[in-house]
Amino acid sequence: MAAAESDREVPSALCTEFLNFSAKDTALKWLQVTDLYKEVYQHLARYVPKIYCLGPNLNPQSEDLLAQLLLQAPLEWYLCGEDPSTGLAKLEQNNQPSQLCGHVFRVGEPTYSCRECAADPTCVLCMQCFLGSVHKEHRYRMTTSGGGGFCDCGDTEAWKKGPYCQKHEPNISDSCQEDPLAHLSTDMIARCYNVFAIVLKYAVDMLTWDKEDELPPGLEPPDRGDTYYCMLFNDEVHTYEQVIYTLQKAVNCTQKEAVSFATTVDRDGRKSVRFGDFAFCEQAKSVIVRNTSRQSKPLRVQVMHSSVVAHQCFALKALHWLGHVIGYSDALRRILCQVGLERGPEGENSSLVDTLMLCDSKMWKGARNVYHQLFMSSLLMDLKYKKLFAIQFAKNYRRLQTDFMEDDHERVVSVTSLSVQLFTVPTMARMLITEENLMTTIIRTFVDHLRHRDLQGRFQFERYTAQQAFKFRRVQSLIGDLKYVLISRPTEWSDQLREKFLEGLDTFLELFKCMQGMDPVVRQVGQHIEMEPEWEAAFTLQMKLTHIISMMQEWCATDERVLIEAYKKCLTALTHCHSGFTDGEQPITLSMCGHSVDTIRYCVSQEKVSIHLPVSRLLAGLHVLLSKMEVAYRFPEQLPLSELSPPMLIEHPLRCLVLCAQVHAGMWRRNGFSLVNQIYYYHNVKCRVEMFDKDLIMLQAGASMMDPNHFLMIVLSRFELYHIFSSADCRKSYNRENTNKDVVQQNNTLIEEMLHLIMMVVGERFEAGVGQVEGCDEIKREIIHQLCIRPMAHSELVKALPENENKETGMERVIDCVASFKKPGVTGRGLYELRPECAKQFNLYFHHYSRADQSKAEEAQRKLKRQNGEDMALPPPMLPPFSPLFASLVNILQCDVLLGMLGAVLQWAVEPSGGHWSESMLQRVLHLIGMGLLEEQQQLKNSSEDHDVSFNFTLKISRPGEAPSNTASVLALLENLQNAPHLEVHKDMIRWILKMVASIKTMRELTASTYTVTASGSHGQEEMVCDKDKAERKRKAEMARLRREKIMAQMSEMQRHFINENKELFQQSLEELYASASTSTSLEHSPTSSDAALVCVGPRRSRPREKRQVVTCILCQEEQEIRADSKAMVLAAFVQRSTVMSKNRKRPPHDPEHYDPLFMHPDLSFGTHTGSCGHIMHSHCWQRYFEAVQAKEQRRQQRLRVHTSYDVGNGEFLCPLCECLSNTVIPLLPGTKGSNSCEQPGLGQWLKISGQQIKAMHSAHRKLQPVGVDAVEEQCPATENFRIDYTPMSPYSSTIKEMLTTFGTATYKVGLKVHPNEQDPRVPIMCWGSCAYTIQSIERLLVDEEKPLFGSLPCRQDDCLSSLARFGSACWTAASQPSVQGHYIRLVAALIPDPQVETSPCILDIDMLHLLVSVVLSYGSVHSQDSSGLSVDAVQLHFFHLITVAHMVQMLLTSGPEEVTMEQESGGAEREEEEDICALYNTLRTHLGSSLPEVASGWHLWRCVKTGILPYLRGAALFFHHLNGVPTPPELHALCPGQWEVLCGYLSLPSNLLQLYHSQKELLEPLLYGWCSHPGVRQTLQGGGVLVSFPRESNSLIDLPDDYSALINQASSFTCPKSGGDKSRAPTLCLVCGSMLCSQSYCCQTELDGEDVGACTAHTFACGAGVGIFLRVRESQVLFLSGKTKGCFYAPPYLDDYGETDQGLRRGNPLHLCRQRYRKIQKLWRQHSVTEEIGHAQEANQTLVGIDWQHL
Ligand SMILES: [Zn+2]
Ligand SMILES: [Zn+2]
Ligand SMILES: [Zn+2]
Ligand SMILES: [Zn+2]
Ligand SMILES: [Zn+2]
Ligand SMILES: [Zn+2]
Ligand SMILES: [Zn+2]
Repeated sequence: MAAAESDREVPSALCTEFLNFSAKDTALKWLQVTDLYKEVYQHLARYVPKIYCLGPNLNPQSEDLLAQLLLQAPLEWYLCGEDPSTGLAKLEQNNQPSQLCGHVFRVGEPTYSCRECAADPTCVLCMQCFLGSVHKEHRYRMTTSGGGGFCDCGDTEAWKKGPYCQKHEPNISDSCQEDPLAHLSTDMIARCYNVFAIVLKYAVDMLTWDKEDELPPGLEPPDRGDTYYCMLFNDEVHTYEQVIYTLQKAVNCTQKEAVSFATTVDRDGRKSVRFGDFAFCEQAKSVIVRNTSRQSKPLRVQVMHSSVVAHQCFALKALHWLGHVIGYSDALRRILCQVGLERGPEGENSSLVDTLMLCDSKMWKGARNVYHQLFMSSLLMDLKYKKLFAIQFAKNYRRLQTDFMEDDHERVVSVTSLSVQLFTVPTMARMLITEENLMTTIIRTFVDHLRHRDLQGRFQFERYTAQQAFKFRRVQSLIGDLKYVLISRPTEWSDQLREKFLEGLDTFLELFKCMQGMDPVVRQVGQHIEMEPEWEAAFTLQMKLTHIISMMQEWCATDERVLIEAYKKCLTALTHCHSGFTDGEQPITLSMCGHSVDTIRYCVSQEKVSIHLPVSRLLAGLHVLLSKMEVAYRFPEQLPLSELSPPMLIEHPLRCLVLCAQVHAGMWRRNGFSLVNQIYYYHNVKCRVEMFDKDLIMLQAGASMMDPNHFLMIVLSRFELYHIFSSADCRKSYNRENTNKDVVQQNNTLIEEMLHLIMMVVGERFEAGVGQVEGCDEIKREIIHQLCIRPMAHSELVKALPENENKETGMERVIDCVASFKKPGVTGRGLYELRPECAKQFNLYFHHYSRADQSKAEEAQRKLKRQNGEDMALPPPMLPPFSPLFASLVNILQCDVLLGMLGAVLQWAVEPSGGHWSESMLQRVLHLIGMGLLEEQQQLKNSSEDHDVSFNFTLKISRPGEAPSNTASVLALLENLQNAPHLEVHKDMIRWILKMVASIKTMRELTASTYTVTASGSHGQEEMVCDKDKAERKRKAEMARLRREKIMAQMSEMQRHFINENKELFQQSLEELYASASTSTSLEHSPTSSDAALVCVGPRRSRPREKRQVVTCILCQEEQEIRADSKAMVLAAFVQRSTVMSKNRKRPPHDPEHYDPLFMHPDLSFGTHTGSCGHIMHSHCWQRYFEAVQAKEQRRQQRLRVHTSYDVGNGEFLCPLCECLSNTVIPLLPGTKGSNSCEQPGLGQWLKISGQQIKAMHSAHRKLQPVGVDAVEEQCPATENFRIDYTPMSPYSSTIKEMLTTFGTATYKVGLKVHPNEQDPRVPIMCWGSCAYTIQSIERLLVDEEKPLFGSLPCRQDDCLSSLARFGSACWTAASQPSVQGHYIRLVAALIPDPQVETSPCILDIDMLHLLVSVVLSYGSVHSQDSSGLSVDAVQLHFFHLITVAHMVQMLLTSGPEEVTMEQESGGAEREEEEDICALYNTLRTHLGSSLPEVASGWHLWRCVKTGILPYLRGAALFFHHLNGVPTPPELHALCPGQWEVLCGYLSLPSNLLQLYHSQKELLEPLLYGWCSHPGVRQTLQGGGVLVSFPRESNSLIDLPDDYSALINQASSFTCPKSGGDKSRAPTLCLVCGSMLCSQSYCCQTELDGEDVGACTAHTFACGAGVGIFLRVRESQVLFLSGKTKGCFYAPPYLDDYGETDQGLRRGNPLHLCRQRYRKIQKLWRQHSVTEEIGHAQEANQTLVGIDWQHL
């Protein structure tokens, strides 16, 4: 108390001064003065240090309050000239708000972008605007914001249509051009201007202030003390752990405080860690610096005077205030913009806004964030000033980026990140290009920051350091800016724009020249390379630039003049790059087949070659555009076509392609993985558009301008195959003398690759401009070829297709014409299947197939053909014609060199000579021939009447080979091959070719004679042949099918035989299989005789089916009968704590050491569940198995510290058969034999006997107590039939006894979370409890699944329940008899008041099923000493009836007030029950008086009781059925009416339950009175305890919204509960109770049993007794946790429209709740299978085992 008061002393001294302060007077004074600036500064100098930063612990609330009163209020008064509350309200009223929404996103908030209407993907809407917009009906993308950025609603440039939501729809009457200042008085404008100028200047002065001990002039404090702060700043170099560790040392704080400091430093960018005099702070500083400077630059620390810190605090506050005030009026906003951008005294770029931007990287994070926010709410919201600001931003661009590069903070907290807001506005981007030359600036800045070059000036990333790598990553953001600038293409070009764009292109080409030929490789021979060269940097650069390159081309495509100029520039650049083209490379002449060509000698395998050729590729792209836009035909005179040297154009791309071929051929193995990776990316979907694809186009462009023979000879030469095909006798032998197998193999692969390349050059015509196709044909073809491999999910297809700069693949437009969608089930995902009619477009040699894709597709397509009964040939598909510029490419097919090569390969195939050819080679040759034939057929069909088709492939292949002597023609060779026995697979293809040749010949002949019928005629003929062929094949296929079926039948017959012989082996698995089908179970349950009604409890109970129970051990396969005296058989079991049925999750966990579990509260808050996979073993077999597992684990842990999915130390193991997680075993026990009892005592008689027995036990137990409490030695009431001294013999064999202890101890250990102690008297209680809880949970499950009570459970659950019940009735034999009897006595006392038992719970605090199960199971220990002939059955029945009455009373006491329902009418059928229940109720009222409300009719009461008691009765039926082994009535095997009567009958109850009471009224009346008079009853009824009403509803997982973004939104406003309003990074939702948690974060770690655990694990222990089900909202991922060490991720119940989940929220498709899947998760939870599921997941995926689940 005293301390608190002395603390308050300082401020209270100030208080008087503060109280006397008048904001109004101060403002009035200010209005008079001439130098307002000086006056205000004086005011601030005086007050700010008195308000802020007065001690070590800041108090932001009171600081802000004082700041509001003393600092802001006078400013507002001055501004308004009147009371600000009225003044600001007026402003707001007159305001015409901007149509821009401008909502600034929080971290994690959902944002929406329309994929149809957004100008680019950076245009986003906030949730509110989105829901009110037209786009919610469109195809949209949903993402979570990384913070910063704002809603673009209302920005007409951001949206192609629907720019406004309903809220921001402009009012048509408003003219938006109006100047907002028009509504303001000049006075007001002037005042406003003054205030803003001073305040903004002050804020800028203070935030950019870098002196630690001084203040700017005018702000010096009147009195300054020796008070300093030691300020710690954030950096991105040191880790959290380092900072925490250092702080603990430096300022001597606890770890907790250090964590909090570190968190704040990370969030705000700085935090004072010490307050005191200068020396004190300086000392802390030196420790921090010393401690953190070892490996890196030290943490930044400053010792700052408190007044400096105070002013900086207020400066931030002032910026907030400005942002707040301009929110009232657009006019004020505009004035602030004007103030901010006004040029300062230092001229250009000296405005306050400039000053802030240019000091950005020097400010701490918190300050940056605040001023960035102000920029967003001011400059960016005013369209006029946004432009001016953009210009300033562009002017400063280079410096800002350089500062950013030097800084180490993330980009989101850099002012450079505002570029996205400015550059993506199309008009703005264009203005900045033309006026500020922005494009050039960006590229220049970029190039300047990449400094590592080689001698030729090319980039060199080979040896770059971590530091450089870091810079390289930062510099990449510039490419992002360039992308923004280019993302919207101009619709109109001005001359200025052309000029600046081309200037930008020039700079861009400069960049490209640095890349052309970078990172060259040389083939390593002999030795393997020593160090993998760095390759990623170059590829990162290429990848980042990919979209830029494409966009540049698209810009060029919008203007012919630009295109022509760009083409020229690019060609010049290429020529420049290749100026040394032939240097040192000897010219040679190649000749073949009568053709010859000059080229150079160059071997890829011997000289330098580079994969990076951006200049060539850009030229290729532009060349295609020339063709596509027909510029090449319309303005040939403007193009430098004559300068083109085709061999030069193709040279480098060809080398690159040859490199790939050689790598495939294994020639570059010694160059290591870096080359393999480069080749991979070269073809990869992320790069190929601007790499591989363009190289191919360049080859096509070059080849189209060359003689095809020349082209092919150069290709042969670069492939280093020229010598093979040019040799005179190449047909005869190729390398026959070459015995080096490797070389032969290499050459084979090279030939295959080369043939493939030729196919691609001639066949790839789907790029618009190369071939005559539409834009969408290309994408269609890609999809078709993906789906030819197999059906694919939407996301798989997206991944296989290139995305453009807008992250679109264009797939949606065409997918439906090539594929059909198949919806997913409860698991799996939706799939697209290829439409059958599209299969004919399949090209086996599709250029984007990898080798793996190709063989998979081939297999799939052949299989499809086989299924359709078609031939197996996979001929090339029909192709679209080439564009004129490329048309000459077809001639490659019929040129002499190619025919020579084809002939050679065919000849080799005819005479295979020891592996010097390959089937793939032949297959490619056949494909090429097919292409030639199709081309000819196509041309013939399309030729006009008198036009002669010059393409005559059939003629060429019919001609004999030319050189050297006359050799067989291609055609002749094919005919020859048709019968070759070794070419079976290719026969269909050869046949197809020959048929084509025939059909084309017919076509030609017909054309020659009568043209008119040609096409259709020949076609018809061909078809006829086809049909006949088809029929034949169909017949064969049918026969094959019949044969298959016959074999299958034989096989299954054999199998059946086998099963019969090995019956036991299959027993288990079959049972599992059919368990739910109930065929096997219903047999067992079928009644013995149909006429006798079945009864499961009491003296009249039906006899159990007497059958020997024989089971088989899964480990040794031996059979064993279940008998008390035989070897123990056990069931693998898993015991776990559970809160699944809890009705009270707020109940704190019990103290395990002192908790008394005898009575279960009806809220069922904690239970123990036992489950089993149903697999049976000998106990000794299991023990041996478990010991082996233990030993193995020990060895494994010693060796390599691997974790397993189960914890052996904790007794866990996997079932040896099904690998189900288990932690104990339940012994199987024989059923009890029904006692053939004759006369049994009635209730009265029994109560007497029981009372006597209890008395006897009381006294016997008292005797046992060591110190005879001085009580009178009571005479043991002689009950001759109760042998209290008799110690019964356990009927069980030693192994069974042992297992009784094992299971009991396990249940005790797990259920109470204590150390095992088999002596603890609570062991049997826990077992009974687990039996009752498991029964209840299964009963609930059956209701929830709408399944009948009996016959629908899988065997394993039946077995589990039986063994649990029987175990329960036997477990007393393994415990101390007096303690079990003690439990019995206390249990009975809860029903029948017993003066000797002091504390019995009141009837409202007892779960009756638990009581029933416990009392029945514990009775065994009493009965063992009974010799009166009293049967167990009779006792069971009496207890059952008694507890049933108690339960009814319990319900009557808790039945809520009467609900008025319309259907309240009784048909008289249950009139008797209603009257009886009224009578009972009134009796209760006489005992309890007004605590019970009056009830008019019995109808309501009877309804309540009847529905409330049903779960109890069903539970009791399950219990007695399994305990006594009585068969079940067939009516309960189905969900039919009349269940009530059958159930009552089975339980030996009258169907009017009230008769239980009324028939024994006199005996029960005292009990009733006893129950009601328990003080707990009255207390609870008056609201003093937890009142549970019956029936207890099944618990469900929480309701989830249909739209996932609602969850994201909910999570985005969730703040960490521990770190004061901070956003949580991993908000995680508990699906059980709906709590949101701050997971996976330091701030919310807590200690649990001496270990730090994350919020989820901690919550799991409170909410789910160790088991948790969560939804990680940011990840869209379900998390299962169990204990501290187990966990797994599970597919979320949210699917997109394509039936796929989006774990990690990467794709952004809208997600909707799939109720089916959510129900599946709920079912896992309800049936206690979560831990089991985790076990299976971890077994399947070992990486899950290593995760530190407890930190989540
Ligand atoms: Zn909005
Ligand atoms: Zn809006
Ligand atoms: Zn839209
Ligand atoms: Zn065995
Ligand atoms: Zn199993
Ligand atoms: Zn929870
Ligand atoms: Zn937290």
